[in-house]
Amino acid sequence: MTTGPRITVLGAAAGGGSPQWNCNCPVCRRVRAGEPGAPRRTQTSLALSADGNRFALINASPDLGEQLLRTPSLHPQRDGRHSPIDAVVLTGGEIDEVTGLLTMREGESFALYASQTTHDTLAASPIFGALDQELVPRRRLPMNETIGLSDGSDKPLDIAVEAFPVPGKIPLYQEDPGVTPEIGALTDANIALQLSVGDSRAFFIPGCADITEELRQRIDGASILFFDGTLWRDDELISAGLGHKTGHRMGHVSIDGAEGAIAELADIDVERKIFIHLNNSNPVLLDDSDERRAVEDRGWEVAYDGMEISL
Ligand SMILES: [Zn+2]
Repeated sequence: MTTGPRITVLGAAAGGGSPQWNCNCPVCRRVRAGEPGAPRRTQTSLALSADGNRFALINASPDLGEQLLRTPSLHPQRDGRHSPIDAVVLTGGEIDEVTGLLTMREGESFALYASQTTHDTLAASPIFGALDQELVPRRRLPMNETIGLSDGSDKPLDIAVEAFPVPGKIPLYQEDPGVTPEIGALTDANIALQLSVGDSRAFFIPGCADITEELRQRIDGASILFFDGTLWRDDELISAGLGHKTGHRMGHVSIDGAEGAIAELADIDVERKIFIHLNNSNPVLLDDSDERRAVEDRGWEVAYDGMEISL
């Protein structure tokens, strides 16, 4: 078994995955057909380990069952019932962030970390009561404070995490019909994580509506940055006839454009900058697209399922 601190990208796509079940856009069509240069991507989740044996999941996507199946390090490692997953950390209460928790019932112990708002969201939904709180203690992530992750029995995982709010919005299913929610609010409904193992600092920021100076300063000097790559352009869904919302309205900055992530994060010093949470319409998903080349020319990578990063 591999050892050593590392992050495995279990899934790199935004909500719906790539391809999305009901989408026949040019990207989804190629991915669905299994064409070269158009790999499938499941919904975003990371597995993080300090020792290669005990893991924290970062978000639990609806595709978790499949993600675990194809990741041998996350299979049971002993006879009987066992899982190497000792903690789950949530960055929000969106469907693509929490639904995998329902795959993790069946009497296994792990610690569940989330902000107070996300815990409230889970508590309001009786279906998550399937996770016995005796076995799966729910722990509140404080904002702007570093804590050590530990398992369901309080044994440390040697991973430190600092959660902090980033500009975003409440989950789509909590919006009032017909009412535009506040976009870009700094609340604990939408958070980012700084994950530290030893001297390595990685940031996970899958949903961010606005890149502030404070955020830039925080990220500067990190080893790894996973950043919101939902859309290439703000009007991508509208111009492709796939939807009526801008990226901003969905709580995401775009990759391209004067106020996009590439421009706004051009000057920060980070060893590896990686786009993740990629929507199925995003042309950077295709290995041979002009947009992919543009991203790579600017020093960014595009996350894919199974990507392994040593810390
Ligand atoms: Zn599509």
